[in-house]
Amino acid sequence: MNDVLPAETPRWQYFEAIARGLLASYGYQEIRFPVLEQTQLFKRSIGEVTDIVEKEMYTFEDRNGDSLTLRPEGTACCVRAAEQGGLLYNQTQKLWYLGPMYRHERPQKGRYRQFFQLGVETFGMAGFDVEAELLLMCADLWRSLKLSEHVQLEINYLGNSEDRASYGKALHAFLLPLVEQLDEDSRRRLDSNVLRILDSKIPSTREMLVNAPRMADYVGAESSQQFRQLQQMLDQAGISYRINPALVRGLDYYNGLVFEWTTDKLGSQATVCAGGRYDNLSKQLGGNATPAVGFAMGVERLLLMLEATGQIPDGLNQQVDVYMALVGPGVQSQGLLLARDLRKIFPSLRILTHCGGAKYNAQLKKAFACGARCAVILEGDSSVQQVKFKVLDTEGATLELPVTALAPELARFFNLD
Ligand code: ATP
Ligand code: MG
Repeated sequence: MNDVLPAETPRWQYFEAIARGLLASYGYQEIRFPVLEQTQLFKRSIGEVTDIVEKEMYTFEDRNGDSLTLRPEGTACCVRAAEQGGLLYNQTQKLWYLGPMYRHERPQKGRYRQFFQLGVETFGMAGFDVEAELLLMCADLWRSLKLSEHVQLEINYLGNSEDRASYGKALHAFLLPLVEQLDEDSRRRLDSNVLRILDSKIPSTREMLVNAPRMADYVGAESSQQFRQLQQMLDQAGISYRINPALVRGLDYYNGLVFEWTTDKLGSQATVCAGGRYDNLSKQLGGNATPAVGFAMGVERLLLMLEATGQIPDGLNQQVDVYMALVGPGVQSQGLLLARDLRKIFPSLRILTHCGGAKYNAQLKKAFACGARCAVILEGDSSVQQVKFKVLDTEGATLELPVTALAPELARFFNLD
């Protein structure tokens, strides 16, 4: 689990501001829910025979003996919250959330035990249109972050639950005679969750799957039609994609569309965003049946991508415009109040006051170090009428001004109204 220290928070804020702006422009609303849920919620949604539930959850008993789990993902929580909040009955919802998720994985670059997901979930819409909108929105986000050329979209259509069941049978029949050659995990899944075998990363298993029956042959006419409409929309929008028949996603609740945005910039942690349709989940959790589709993206992986591709904008870490140096015990209160007045006049100006006292040179050194463009210097044993205004460039031009002339000078220097 990582701390995000001040040197790194600007890039988080950069990503978050772009994402929030984009989601707002699409009319999506934010939802917030707890980081803890009843363990049952995840077992019933994600599925008992999945990596997450079998080996990755942080689960513990609370003081009442209830089994609780730190959320490993947001979809199940979002469905629970939306259902309990009365958002799912006869309504459509377009929601998003951003927050930490917890999985006990082997930590490595791009894989952490606490990581942040930006998730989007929609409810009440069964058609291809909302699916297309989600993919358009992702594409817009990549464009805003200047990452478009580094991500690829893979899609697949899983069909409805009957389609999945009959495909599952066919896959089972195909794999049964080969059981001896399957890896251990896949052998276990043969009877419990056969589709997950398609997701296996073991090379020998992947090789066996080349000749396996294909999902597409088991998907009913309606789903196929919807998949075609989605593809047409993507073509129209100029979003390129690859159909990957082996894409099933690691969770149990998907049907219809599944997709992943992957990158070749992050080694084996290649998936930056993943999602799909899950029309049966809310009913399965005891609520109203509600068509649903959504996705989640890993924020750390996106930030790593920004770094790997050199797309972190210059100047993000420059967070101070004016450094106010306060030299001498008599000017400290005056300086704090003056800074406060200036902030009232120029709300966008970032003014950092020097607290704690120090010699003139030490304070100016700090002014340079924080990246401020200018310093205002008050110096004296009692309150002063005159201040110094110093430009913090190599020339370091310095003016002496009456306190009353400082606001106009700042307005001129920073081009403020
Ligand atoms: P992976 O195959 O990489 O384990 P996943 O299928 O488990 O991914 P999802 O549950 O679909 O991932 O989560 C959506 C996104 O969240 C992933 O695409 C990834 O960007 C991010 N993510 C998942 N697990 C982690 C983790 N442990 N650390 C950082 N990011 C993660
Ligand atoms: Mg995983």
